[in-house]
Amino acid sequence: MKNKYSFYFQKNNELFGGTVLSVCYKADDNEILKYGLTSPNILILIKTPEINDLLYKKNFNYMSELKNQIKCKKILLRIQSECLLGMYGDLHCDCESQRLDSIAKIKDEGGIFIHLPQEAQGWGLHYKLQELELQVSGRDEKGQYIGEKNRDDAQKLLLGNQNFDDCRSYEIIYKILFDLGISTKKYILISESERKINSLKKLGLDVIKYSSYKEFDVNVDNISEYLIKILNGTHTFNDEVINKIGELIINRKYNGRTLSTLINIVDKIKNDKNYNLNKNTKDKFLSFYDQILCGVEKRYIVDDSIIKLQNNFSCKVNSSIFKAIKNLYGKNVFDRISLEKLYYFESKKGNKSVRIRSSKVMDTIGKPCIFMKGQIHVEQRTFNDEKTQILQEEISLSKLRSFFENNDYDYVKRVEMITIISERQIPNINIYIKKLPNIENRIMDVYGKKDVIRKFIDNLISSLNRNVLNEVVSNSDYEDENFTDYNLRFADIEVAIQEELEIYNLLKKGDE
Ligand SMILES: [Zn+2]
Repeated sequence: MKNKYSFYFQKNNELFGGTVLSVCYKADDNEILKYGLTSPNILILIKTPEINDLLYKKNFNYMSELKNQIKCKKILLRIQSECLLGMYGDLHCDCESQRLDSIAKIKDEGGIFIHLPQEAQGWGLHYKLQELELQVSGRDEKGQYIGEKNRDDAQKLLLGNQNFDDCRSYEIIYKILFDLGISTKKYILISESERKINSLKKLGLDVIKYSSYKEFDVNVDNISEYLIKILNGTHTFNDEVINKIGELIINRKYNGRTLSTLINIVDKIKNDKNYNLNKNTKDKFLSFYDQILCGVEKRYIVDDSIIKLQNNFSCKVNSSIFKAIKNLYGKNVFDRISLEKLYYFESKKGNKSVRIRSSKVMDTIGKPCIFMKGQIHVEQRTFNDEKTQILQEEISLSKLRSFFENNDYDYVKRVEMITIISERQIPNINIYIKKLPNIENRIMDVYGKKDVIRKFIDNLISSLNRNVLNEVVSNSDYEDENFTDYNLRFADIEVAIQEELEIYNLLKKGDE
């Protein structure tokens, strides 16, 4: 046992501000495997007011003396999983600020700091570099660019079908505290990790969570680390942190990893009833997501009898958007106002839903347009496994309900909205600005060629007040959930992320 521990009595440690007893525990091969260690040496730094007493003793037995040198009722404890990149200045994760923060706390109040070599949740530094290279630059081990991956996807790529288990175990910590004779003390763990606290409790340690949150450093580089923790439900963060995350997202200060993790969180909020996240935070995330709403919708339109897939940019706008667009083109480009009615039907088997859109032209605005006032246009779509198709059979509006109800469909509901339309007035794009019931702001959809959409947004940003694109609408305004589902969802997440990033870059350019 004795040779498993070495001691060095530091008379003046600059970081911890004073006398520190440093202990090194050397794990054997079995322990290395069992506890997911990436190196055998565990460093324990102990700073208490009483430890100074040892300064005046010449001989002492470290193992038996130690418990007498810790008299405080509750001992601050930090178990720092090794993160060498973080220590050497990499901003990819949130651990370095936590490390320095805990050291500062122990410096002030005394406590025990344990450096645990469990790099990359126990998968090791080698693994960590490969994972980060995939996340940050999208390059695999051969240096081949395969696209930026989020953490979950990078893990899947590197580990194949093996589950990425957090191999960290804290048994070794308990063993060390036991050996040192201090395992029955009361501890306050500086950590946001519920998993860590629960594992230590299970091992028999009397431990509570350090409850005063200090400032969290959420930034463009580490935001996805926070999101992964929220997604996996391993950590809880206070409102301040959630709001900081929201601020970054809304201002599009993120990257592909962030966005795909955000989408996973929103999916989980919508679909996983057991998702252990408080309602307030859920609402906030839905609202963040809404505020960066854009991307592609698989939309087939009939244009000169060709059905084609178009790109779509979608965002919330206030009414000043009309003036903004008029200024941009020097003329009015909207050619008609229509009253749209959306009818939703669902098959009795529940596997298929149908949306019928009828649009009745209310007025034409001074421009020649192919639709005449009073004309009704009916478009029919089914939604099945996320694929959209136009129904083969033409039906008239008056026969609509009886047609579907005779074909094993239930009538679900109807949504009405006013749409102001610019079609064929600007080459290669169509703009639809919709006013929905219960939603104060409008929603602008722009369909067309990707580069033309980008140029359009670019021009709006560079020549006009960009606030018209960024109007904040609270999530509670979305009472009509189905509408959101059918019209404003991403059809293809990969493509949507690419689109969102391009728009993010455009907006960033607009800021400069
Ligand atoms: Zn780290």
